[in-house]
Amino acid sequence: MSKHILKTECERCGTCCMKGGPALHIEDKKLFLQEIIDRKYLITIRKGEPVFSLEESKPEWAKTEIIKLKGNHTEWSCIFYDRKNFSCSIYQHRPLECILLKCWDTVELKAIAGKRLLSRFDIISSDEPIIKYIHKHEKECSLEILTQLSIKQNGKINKPTLAELTELVNKDLTFRSEALKHFNLNLDLELFYFGRPLFKILSQFALIPREINGKIILIQA
Ligand code: SF4
Repeated sequence: MSKHILKTECERCGTCCMKGGPALHIEDKKLFLQEIIDRKYLITIRKGEPVFSLEESKPEWAKTEIIKLKGNHTEWSCIFYDRKNFSCSIYQHRPLECILLKCWDTVELKAIAGKRLLSRFDIISSDEPIIKYIHKHEKECSLEILTQLSIKQNGKINKPTLAELTELVNKDLTFRSEALKHFNLNLDLELFYFGRPLFKILSQFALIPREINGKIILIQA
């Protein structure tokens, strides 16, 4: 006889929270107004970035921008997960996906996946000067080129594409450091305002960054 017992309620094992923070939806906007969640706890997944969907074990390209709760420093574990007490430190105010998630029945979560997602432009007010920088970054450091690559690709990337990626990696880094200086921003906010640096995203494509004379070059692993 099978020893497998079906769950019907949360046992607070923490597995969901340790797999990473949720994507935020329009319904979660109130958490900013109530100052439960600060921008420094967020990471932006930009359009075109590789992401894992609920069903797929293989990554696909983000069709739209996604705002997620960050991981805890170097871990995936949600920044609000309290490992010592196996609990959520904002439980009474947890985001929509966390309310709907039942690991034994994901129907409700799947029903909202990818819908009514929050973007940076729902959180930053239109008169904040950084908005212009974000739009400029999206235009000049678009991730469109990534859709031409395959994750962990075995074949080599051709020279013109590699040159284009290298230029983009350096442009992306320059853009970030200028914006951080210009707005006197804390590094904590960089991942929200500009998403992950391109060189970090490219490690998923077996491209390793090396710094030579202050510039990044990409090496194919
Ligand atoms: S917000 Fe709370 S419930 Fe949601 S993933 Fe983070 S720790 Fe878990």
